[in-house]
Amino acid sequence: MLRTNTCGELNLSHIGNKVTLAGWVQKTRNKGFMIWVDLRDRYGVTQIIFDEERSDKKTLEMAQNLGREFVIQVQGTVIERVSKNPNLPTGDIEILAESFQILNASKTPPFTIENETDGGEELRMQYRYLDIRRNPVRENLIFRSKVSLAIRNYLSAHNFIDVETPYLIKSTPEGARDFVVPSRMNSGEFYALPQSPQTFKQLLMVGGMDQYFQIVKCFRDEDLRADRQPEFTQIDCEMTFVEQEDILSRFEGLLKHLLKEIKGIEVSEFPRMTYAEAMKKYGNDKPDIRFGMEFAELNDIAQGKGFQVFDQQELIVGIAVPGAASYTRKQIDALIDWVKRPQIGANGLIWVKCNEDGSYKSSVDKFYSQDDLKSWASRVEAKAGDLILVMGGDANKTRGQLSDLRMEIAEQLGLRDPNVFAPLWVVDFPLLEWDEESKRFHAMHHPFTAPKPEQMSLLATDPGAVNANAYDLVLNGNEIGGGSIRIHDSEVQETMFDLLGFTKEEAQAQFGFLMEAFQYGAPPHGGIALGLDRLVAILGGQETIRDFIAFPKNNSGRDLMINAPAAIDSMQLEELNLALKQEE
Ligand code: ASP
Repeated sequence: MLRTNTCGELNLSHIGNKVTLAGWVQKTRNKGFMIWVDLRDRYGVTQIIFDEERSDKKTLEMAQNLGREFVIQVQGTVIERVSKNPNLPTGDIEILAESFQILNASKTPPFTIENETDGGEELRMQYRYLDIRRNPVRENLIFRSKVSLAIRNYLSAHNFIDVETPYLIKSTPEGARDFVVPSRMNSGEFYALPQSPQTFKQLLMVGGMDQYFQIVKCFRDEDLRADRQPEFTQIDCEMTFVEQEDILSRFEGLLKHLLKEIKGIEVSEFPRMTYAEAMKKYGNDKPDIRFGMEFAELNDIAQGKGFQVFDQQELIVGIAVPGAASYTRKQIDALIDWVKRPQIGANGLIWVKCNEDGSYKSSVDKFYSQDDLKSWASRVEAKAGDLILVMGGDANKTRGQLSDLRMEIAEQLGLRDPNVFAPLWVVDFPLLEWDEESKRFHAMHHPFTAPKPEQMSLLATDPGAVNANAYDLVLNGNEIGGGSIRIHDSEVQETMFDLLGFTKEEAQAQFGFLMEAFQYGAPPHGGIALGLDRLVAILGGQETIRDFIAFPKNNSGRDLMINAPAAIDSMQLEELNLALKQEE
């Protein structure tokens, strides 16, 4: 080893020890006759001191020229510091240097390697290896490793087997585009990178593996919304001979285990909510339930009072913002402008202040009496001092807009406390979703999800009304996992493909292998996948997944460090049979 100790472990109990440390020069302070160097490695920072009296002259001279981020090895003695630094685990001691070697020099880094850096996001991505030297980034990666290990421990303890599935596969529909890889040996043919190991994990159940997990990369070629990565990591799981309840309880157990191990927090049984209820109460299938402001529908009491804007709308829905009756005109206008932004797209916002004296003041006083407004207030459960906000329009759209507003206000009011964890199961998702554009049904989860057994007969008569044995795990307003009980009967699977608009031939060509496997004693099975990146970020008290990925891609799917994607040379293209034929 090039060192006897790390830069994070020496303290008063080591006084007098001869040690060798190796690390990076974080910073130097040079007084001529005395030089201090902060030496950093993954474990911490230790102060090294060179001085005229106690170090030899040549060593002192050499130390004058140490630059930031030089890699050095230092030999010396642990001594007690005169002025101690209580904020540093090694702050009671320093190393009196006897000699040192430069293991490697460094150019001046393009941004400061400090907790608070002057480097912009793109620059830090380009030099990610330098960014990783900064405490917050390094700590996030260590945190992620800790979470992964806790997950492996829990799943292993419950008999899950870690099995790897291939990356070069054929398309699995999870609702996004595939990344494809041309095959050199099979000219004109392509592999797809898995959007998830869905079919493989089901085949492992047919293979009798009973309980499977894998912490696995998945690839989806989506238009990148903020904070999505084209490759991301899932905790992918599948279980045999189970019902929905078994899966919910096993994975509720996993999240509880993580909250306890990682955060020291005990949570009680997770609440459950149907999809329909979540949409009605929160306008959203992944509600943040750390705070209230639940939706209340006002159609029957807000329509037919002469306010025409509301009279023609499909849905009138409101929320009560706690303590916001004191908002100024300017603050309310800002909210109105916020919902009118193209990203939200609302036409406007009606407000009602619930005054402390029991009276109401609203933007629609012309149309509504105090009694009317009082009935609104009681419907949205507004107290004196609250501000009621109401929107009207097409039901789905309006719910979405009010949901966005609810989240924005919660953010502004500081109600989204990262130290509070409110998990929730959302269950009973519809099996299918009608797509107006293509005029056909899409699988809401994926085509392998089983209908509720008691609704099987509806599949032929009213497929849109069928619910699935599908569930999402939601944490603080984020969907962190989703899964379902699967179809394990080849005929039901065939019916499903038919409903989704596949011809028999298409279904056979794409998924013949699965339907065939179902004819060889496929057991009942189901599973779930949790997004590791997001889960780690939320447990880490942040919402940006990029901060917890060692080498993330930017918003246009680029790796700025290695500069990928990139063109490939014509030889490679030719080998792959992808060269564009030149016109004669
Ligand atoms: N494969 C699904 C997904 O990636 C998860 C599952 O159904 O287990 O969302």
